[in-house]
Amino acid sequence: MNSKHLRWVFVWAGLAWGLAQPGPAQPKPAKPKPPSPQAQLAKQYLATARRYLVRQAELEHYFRIDERGIATFASFADKKKNEPECLVYWNELASFKNALLNLPRPGAIEYYLEKKSRKFTAQEIKELKAAGRERTPVPKGARADRPLQGYRIAIDPGHIAGDIEMAKIEQRFVILDLDDGTKISFCEGDLNLGTAQVLKEKLEKLGADVLLTRNRPNTGARGLTYQSWKKTELPALLRAAQKSGKLTAAQQTHLLTKAPDAQLYEAYFLPEDLQARARVINAYQPDLTVIIHYNGSPFPRRPWNKPVSSNYNMVFMPGAFLAGELASSEARFDFLRMLVLGNLEGSAQFAKLVLQEFTQRLQVPPVPVKNRVFYLNFNSIFVSQGVYARNLGLSRLVNSPLCYGESLYQDHEAEARLLNLHQGAKKQTSPRVRQVADAYYRAVARYFKVEMEGQAK
Ligand SMILES: [Zn+2]
Repeated sequence: MNSKHLRWVFVWAGLAWGLAQPGPAQPKPAKPKPPSPQAQLAKQYLATARRYLVRQAELEHYFRIDERGIATFASFADKKKNEPECLVYWNELASFKNALLNLPRPGAIEYYLEKKSRKFTAQEIKELKAAGRERTPVPKGARADRPLQGYRIAIDPGHIAGDIEMAKIEQRFVILDLDDGTKISFCEGDLNLGTAQVLKEKLEKLGADVLLTRNRPNTGARGLTYQSWKKTELPALLRAAQKSGKLTAAQQTHLLTKAPDAQLYEAYFLPEDLQARARVINAYQPDLTVIIHYNGSPFPRRPWNKPVSSNYNMVFMPGAFLAGELASSEARFDFLRMLVLGNLEGSAQFAKLVLQEFTQRLQVPPVPVKNRVFYLNFNSIFVSQGVYARNLGLSRLVNSPLCYGESLYQDHEAEARLLNLHQGAKKQTSPRVRQVADAYYRAVARYFKVEMEGQAK
């Protein structure tokens, strides 16, 4: 080895030494660690919660979604102390979901409140996992002719009125004297029921099992008319409210003898009826729920007694809790319930299909993205044009994917003329109501991947 060679050896050695030196100039390329399955679940559920449920940032004080699972907290202080009201660990999701689906609501709430951060035993996980809804197996090939066989679909026709007298009590009617002398008089409850009945028949032809929450005019989900409820149930209800200190004796007497029906309906009949509708739907364990309403122009607000020039469709899915709407444990239970049941994406998907079909079948556009409608801008979360998440009384209680449809403005002049042709009491189902039912029908079929002729894009 001559000196020249020697020099090279030193150079090489020096280089090698330099390369081997651990130092800040040469950081090891960090291998990205794959996120754990729990971290992935947390990311996904947090994104869903923020996308559909959280309308105002302060609600984040009431929950945490991390590698452990989904937790709710009764207060910000409890969150700081890490004392959950209920924590569902990731390996308990399927079990907890079955508990929610199978227990009646009061039992499910009790279950939620008792859980805290206790872990289910292996036995509990096993038992609850096995407790899912029993499904009748669909025979092979049966879906060729009856593509919806084996599916359960719940339909809720909104409100109850089948005549103007009842419609005035529930404040859902359109009475217009048009310039050409036409007299318009119809009620939303009647349109909703007519639409639901047509839709039921059409879906049954595709093989679906269909439930209506009510099937008679002027009657709620418990099978009672408002008038019979007022006679048979209201007095005991008010007595109980007085006993528990919610009412004074004077208030109770006033409500029994002097209060207008509209007030009694809204304060007592309606909340009970909505709960009953949810009970009936959840006991049925449907694969999909359709809640049917017809809208009215938000300007001017009710009563809808002057024709308007605008006409739009909009649809709602559950979600959009507002500031203050997680203050009660029952509300937090619903928040957690919606995440655990995992129906939000399905609801969004179905709601978009309903809106598409409304647009195409009814030839009426979705409400513009930029609008001045208070409940859309302040009480809802925008999902896509015409589709909003909103925390409505009934939809927040239902355990399946759902769409709460609000087709058309009933007080739009041309629309009112078409809708006025529907009079359920006279057994007149109008072509316009059939079109609305057809739009829902196509959306339901498409949700279950049944190809429809002339499919809306
Ligand atoms: Zn309505």
